[in-house]
Amino acid sequence: MSNLPHIQEETWETPQKILVIMAHPDDPEFFCGATLARWISAGHRVHYWLLTCGDKGTKDRSLTSERLCAIRQKEQKAAASVLGIEHVNFLNFADGYLVADLNLRRDVTRIIRMEKPDILVTCDPTTLFVGDDRLNHPDHRAAGQVVLDAVYPAARDHLYFIELLLEENLEPHVVKEVWVAGTQNPNVVMDTTPYWEVKIQALHEHKSQIGDVDAFTERMRNRLAPGSSRAQPRYEEKFRRIVFPDV
Ligand SMILES: [Zn+2]
Repeated sequence: MSNLPHIQEETWETPQKILVIMAHPDDPEFFCGATLARWISAGHRVHYWLLTCGDKGTKDRSLTSERLCAIRQKEQKAAASVLGIEHVNFLNFADGYLVADLNLRRDVTRIIRMEKPDILVTCDPTTLFVGDDRLNHPDHRAAGQVVLDAVYPAARDHLYFIELLLEENLEPHVVKEVWVAGTQNPNVVMDTTPYWEVKIQALHEHKSQIGDVDAFTERMRNRLAPGSSRAQPRYEEKFRRIVFPDV
């Protein structure tokens, strides 16, 4: 049997509540926007929580972090709206300084217990290198780490952060699945070809991040799946999918 990732579509028979927790505005669209569009079109509900407001992502020296934060929140809401997602929330930690500590784990545990998702989507904390020419952003690693640490066991077991139960009435919550994007170890390859253009359209809303729109669009359309071509394109998004057993 091959160890290569295989096409393994989700097999949910009822509408799922899907919670995406990532570091920055634009992360959900870059990491998995086409898959999110596919899920929305299938009738699933998607909510976002972004841990930072992306307040350092600029080379424009006239922009303050406060102003950039406001711009990026607005862009993120517009991008989510292109995908059909209305619930976008921000924790507003400082961009670039995210640390997967116990305080942040409590905050993320609170979000999971409040939102009660079936499916949780985040990014892979073990990805340090991206190909031969990029490092993964430290916030992406910290976000993935803290989200996975909150899913298990903190959100599940009531004695973790007991103040969430005693003071905020937040009952433990067990997610059914975790989908980890931006991974070097995928076990799911989603064929997202029909949703690639809507992913690009959503990314266009991140105007402060993408530079020249035409050049950006061209780069995105060239992210072809192996064996396909611009004449007959195929596009994929890959995940590590963890399906917890029923208990
Ligand atoms: Zn990011």
